[in-house]
Amino acid sequence: YQEQVPLRLYQEGEDEAYLYKLHLIEELKEALESEHSPLFMNYQPKLNLNTAKVDKLEALIRWINKEGQFVNPELFVDLAEKAGLIVTLTRWVILQVIQQVEQWNKMGYQFKVSINLSAQDIQHDEFIDYLLAIVKSHNVATTQITLELTERDIADNEALVVARLSHLKALGFAISVDDYGIGQSSLAKLKTLPVDELKIDKTFILTLDQSQADQDIVASTISLGHKLGMSVVAEGVENKASLALLNDFKCDYAQGYYLSRPVTADKFIQWYKTYES
Ligand code: C2E
Ligand code: CA
Ligand code: CA
Ligand code: CA
Repeated sequence: YQEQVPLRLYQEGEDEAYLYKLHLIEELKEALESEHSPLFMNYQPKLNLNTAKVDKLEALIRWINKEGQFVNPELFVDLAEKAGLIVTLTRWVILQVIQQVEQWNKMGYQFKVSINLSAQDIQHDEFIDYLLAIVKSHNVATTQITLELTERDIADNEALVVARLSHLKALGFAISVDDYGIGQSSLAKLKTLPVDELKIDKTFILTLDQSQADQDIVASTISLGHKLGMSVVAEGVENKASLALLNDFKCDYAQGYYLSRPVTADKFIQWYKTYES
């Protein structure tokens, strides 16, 4: 009668990382319930290359933990997905962003703001009702809100997700495909999706000015997006040369550190006022 073999052999580094993740999950749960939340939203402008104006923003979550350190959003969003916290986190994000948009509207700024979703959000049966209720109670037009999802999020349960996206689009929300080009991109599929905006992944944009291959890929992705009736956004624009290339390629929007890093709502408005003047 053989002794059972442990599934995982003990490895010090791995074990520590595992405990750290468990700890983060517990702290994130607390953060989501806390009244003085250590979570907050940052906003990053998307520059309209046709008008040279900033009329869209992306909302990005930030978390400063108890040790006063920023936790990487990619890390804690991923943990939230695995720990079943993402629907709660996204609801928190939606409320914050819609309140912010309402406040900006009252100040006379009519920005279109995008919110990042996970596969579980869009598949959740109360998602659309929740989003609509928040939008309505804050007098925000559905057309002011864009929902960003990756191809992978869409592929996860495609028939359901496509039906949900069509419904959201019919309600006036805009749909954006995030991180385009790095997934299992299928052009045939893209054609059938109810999508308004295509965001070219930053891996193609960061080195755009130095790579002919990236320039070829980006130029053809932009013309593909246009043929499919989509607005095309390039994210990860870090320098003037890349911005100039995107202008040449007739890209619709540019987003990146060259323009502005993601910043708090107040800092964004300060930046916006100087930018527009
Ligand atoms: P993403 O949706 O692809 O967001 C774009 C990321 O690129 C952001 O990282 C942004 O800060 C970064 N970025 C923007 N411009 C530049 C640039 O010029 N150069 C470089 N190197 N990076 C640039 P961030 O804020 O760290 O977020 C990472 C990821 O975490 C996001 O990728 C998204 O997948 C996730 N995330 C962030 N906020 C939220 C949220 O509120 N909800 C959900 N579900 N996911 C979020
Ligand atoms: Ca995004
Ligand atoms: Ca994502
Ligand atoms: Ca992205």
